[in-house]
Amino acid sequence: MRIFKFGGASVKDADGIKNVFSVLEKVGHEDTLLVISAMGKTTNALELVIKHYFEKSGELNSSLQDVRKYHNQILLDLFDDEEHDVFYAVNSHFADLEYFIRSNKSPNYNFVYDQVVSFGEIVSTTIVSHYFNHAGLKNNWIDVRNFIKTDATYRDAEVNWEKTQQLISKGVKKKALNITQGFLGSDENNFTTTLGREGSDYTAAIFAYCLNAESVTIWKDVPGVMNADPRVFENAILLNQISYREAIELAFYGATVIHPKTLQPLQKKEIPLHVKSFINPLLPGTSVSKGKDLEPQAPCYIVKRDQLLISLSSIDFSFIMEENISEIFALFHQYKMKVSLIQNSAISFSVSVEDKFGNFNELKAILSKKFKVSYNENVSLYTIRHFNKEAAEMVEKGKTVLLKQISRETMQIVTKE
Ligand code: ADP
Ligand code: ASP
Ligand code: MG
Repeated sequence: MRIFKFGGASVKDADGIKNVFSVLEKVGHEDTLLVISAMGKTTNALELVIKHYFEKSGELNSSLQDVRKYHNQILLDLFDDEEHDVFYAVNSHFADLEYFIRSNKSPNYNFVYDQVVSFGEIVSTTIVSHYFNHAGLKNNWIDVRNFIKTDATYRDAEVNWEKTQQLISKGVKKKALNITQGFLGSDENNFTTTLGREGSDYTAAIFAYCLNAESVTIWKDVPGVMNADPRVFENAILLNQISYREAIELAFYGATVIHPKTLQPLQKKEIPLHVKSFINPLLPGTSVSKGKDLEPQAPCYIVKRDQLLISLSSIDFSFIMEENISEIFALFHQYKMKVSLIQNSAISFSVSVEDKFGNFNELKAILSKKFKVSYNENVSLYTIRHFNKEAAEMVEKGKTVLLKQISRETMQIVTKE
């Protein structure tokens, strides 16, 4: 079986969905499972709904109606007959969402978040599945929450591999065209969970692993993995073939074209990953597989914005060594700060972190009891893999460098723009 993942950009409007259909006509659709994300920026729009909900804002209803109208327009563009079943199916999902919002009693933000944002994927796959059936491409709509089981860490759930493996091997129809949602799972009590923002690539890898798939293809609005984000750096070049190792490094440092969790399950079973353009589906794109990096040895540039540079120094001039460091890391883990760079000296310790869950103030109060804490907000972390002198000069030019770290293959700088 092949696993195809289509992200938000590929299904952002009716033409996008028609294009996905034509991609399948070109590359085949037998024995294939499609993992599809929410349409366009729907997850962001639903995040706004959640914000209004918790702030008890008067804009709650209008933000919800915006999401509804956006999908309704896509339906009207795809289907001439407004009596088509898909209109009822989508309406019924929105009715469920509105019911949840009206009746929810849980004050747990992360729980509510997952119950609400999941409608993005549920609605998008409902529309795509009906449209394909309507256009003659018979397919099987699957609710991923019956297959991917996780713990109850809402917004960042951990997969229960054993249960997931059992359910997927038993329940996914082979030979057919299956359509399911990215990003979602469910916990022991069958409440919806999510795997972390941009997690649909990871969903594709989970299915591939459990089905021993022949390959995974993630279809993007770029020709493949490039040596830099073409939206940020001019003259980015396509990397034709890279190893799992190179891909995991690039993704970890922040090349958002592949979600970092995607690579590990694929690498374990040596399932090749293709990153291809949904605009030019017959071009080869990038292949990620075991072995040598045939390309590139060209420098690769990655930027992660919205980082927090935190420096801790001991109050009494004592060294920051093993014991302190492990305590500090336990706190970062507890407060879900994702660490992207570490540097330490005898009495000080600096990290660049991402505060995805808005926990820094709480953490700062705890750290301040033991350390002098200084920090810079909104800094950028630039990473150059396979750096050389020119590459380093180009990235540093015109920026205030707060911290720099160089290892054999990688140079990283934290800058204030
Ligand atoms: P999806 O629609 O699957 O969610 P994303 O928008 O998350 O797709 O990922 C595709 C985007 O990743 C591209 O539009 C591009 O701007 C960005 N990107 C970041 N780093 C790279 C890179 N090294 N190569 C290609 N694209 C990159
Ligand atoms: N829709 C989710 C998000 O925007 C998951 C994904 O697109 O991968 O984060
Ligand atoms: Mg995305």
